Amino acid sequence: MNLVLFGPPGAGKGTQAQSVCVEYGLVHLSTGNLFRAHISNETPLGKEVKSILDAGELVPDSIVLNMVKEELQKPAFQKGVVFDGFPRTVAQAEGLQDVMKEVNTSIDAFIMLDVPNDVLVQRLLSRGEGRSDDTEKKIQHRLDVYQKETTPVKGYYESKGTVYSILGIGTIEEVFSRIQSVIDSL
Ligand code: ADP
Repeated sequence: MNLVLFGPPGAGKGTQAQSVCVEYGLVHLSTGNLFRAHISNETPLGKEVKSILDAGELVPDSIVLNMVKEELQKPAFQKGVVFDGFPRTVAQAEGLQDVMKEVNTSIDAFIMLDVPNDVLVQRLLSRGEGRSDDTEKKIQHRLDVYQKETTPVKGYYESKGTVYSILGIGTIEEVFSRIQSVIDSL
């Protein structure tokens, strides 16, 4: 089973993705985490994308897709993947579909976490992870980038009929049980 966990910055994708992976034996693939690991390890890719993440802009699709393709070569991902923070553009969604086709698999569900904007800003400001892109101005910019460039990805999956929207507010456990209901209905 392969899932896309979708939603704006601060929606709780990372937290929920981890719980989903534990419960269903899937492997978590967060492009944001991968980029941050490259940055802290000072790899060539890390050096290339650091200023982009700091500015809250999107990393170019070709870079993202190459990184994801390489990552998916790891045998662990054969168990099934929970994509978090990817795809973030329609071009990335199309690229993902091509990659999945090559290995005869597909996305089983696109799960959208709906959270009102004011809650998102509060959560990101109080997250306290010390991320350099978690200042008020950059958070607002990431939310704008999400609206403009990332929301069309939902339309892409709607045209394939695999979209499930759930409410992303409440406790972590409440949100997780909503996600479980979706997955168990697949
Ligand atoms: P958040 O959901 O809080 O924005 P992420 O960890 O998903 O956090 O992403 C952090 C940053 O990493 C983004 O603002 C962007 O610069 C970069 N990034 C992550 N995933 C992608 C992607 N799929 N395409 C382009 N840029 C990405």
